[in-house]
Amino acid sequence: MSILAKYWTKLEDNKVRCELCPFRCVLKEGQVGVCRVRKNIGGKLYTLNYGKVSSIAVDPIEKKPLFHFFPTSEVLSLSTVGCNLRCRHCQNWEISQVGVEAPFLRDMSPQDVMKIAENYEGIAWTYNEPVIWHEFTMDVSKMAKKEGLYTVYVTNGYINEEPLDEVLRYIDAFNIDVKAFSEDFYRRITGGSLAPVLRSVEKVKRAGKHVELTYLIIPTLNDSEEEIRNFASWVADLDAEIPVHFSRFFPMYKLTELPPTPVKTLHRAYKIAKDVGLEYVYLGNTWEPEYESTYCPECGNLLIERVYYHTRIVGLSKEGRCKKCGRRINVVLPPRFL
Ligand code: SF4
Repeated sequence: MSILAKYWTKLEDNKVRCELCPFRCVLKEGQVGVCRVRKNIGGKLYTLNYGKVSSIAVDPIEKKPLFHFFPTSEVLSLSTVGCNLRCRHCQNWEISQVGVEAPFLRDMSPQDVMKIAENYEGIAWTYNEPVIWHEFTMDVSKMAKKEGLYTVYVTNGYINEEPLDEVLRYIDAFNIDVKAFSEDFYRRITGGSLAPVLRSVEKVKRAGKHVELTYLIIPTLNDSEEEIRNFASWVADLDAEIPVHFSRFFPMYKLTELPPTPVKTLHRAYKIAKDVGLEYVYLGNTWEPEYESTYCPECGNLLIERVYYHTRIVGLSKEGRCKKCGRRINVVLPPRFL
């Protein structure tokens, strides 16, 4: 279903400029944006993917990954098609690098989604980029908030400030990908740029929302000690309590010539991040429970145990403090735990 899009400006000669993400695509009549899902029809900008669902599934919240937000909960997870970036290593390229002509899409209304969502604690916009599904994700998230569900946004952070202000009104928790800490990587590997992503992270944090970051470490491209240290130091300056997930790369899509990231590179990143003062650092895709569990930054007590996707809250009080030393922990606990 196509509906009139939000965030665009009319230009001369029936052209429009989309203001949703930093690309600010200028589109002639009939043209579609970089994301494949916003189109100039008759001098107006339309979103083509409203209610077009590519995947709907129930996941542990830990799979997003969000480790400090409603741990142990199950979240209804949805995606559409398209993306505003062109990552050469995209893990979900079958849905992110196609448009609404994809044969596997199903049409759902916000009410259809809510009917399913009421059986779960929250809704996550995930698998592909929610920014380019803006109108639908906002309509559903608004309804979800009214029903007392939590809302989650798993995103590349490539969004302009005004639409992000709207997202901040209806989304509770964010996992934002920082794909590297260099403009050169963003330009060559993703087609985008780093600065707007960092600006989004800062804005989400300033708004008081729950935020966790994911950094996929790719051999030779973004794995130097210096780059990891610069990234971790930037996070520590923002807030050392932000959970950071370093994830292991496997050859994918257009980046098949590189090997999987050596596990020792992940271990090195973990140590660098802890050395600069980050309090909650995790490793993904290495399947080592000691790097997936949460420990008290003060006394080392095990707070949340994770073995693959089996999660147990073991060392936290109902007030979100370490049971052993009383340290306040950056965690949002499910009401059923309180
Ligand atoms: S959301 Fe799509 S159409 Fe709009 S500026 Fe970004 S890539 Fe272009």
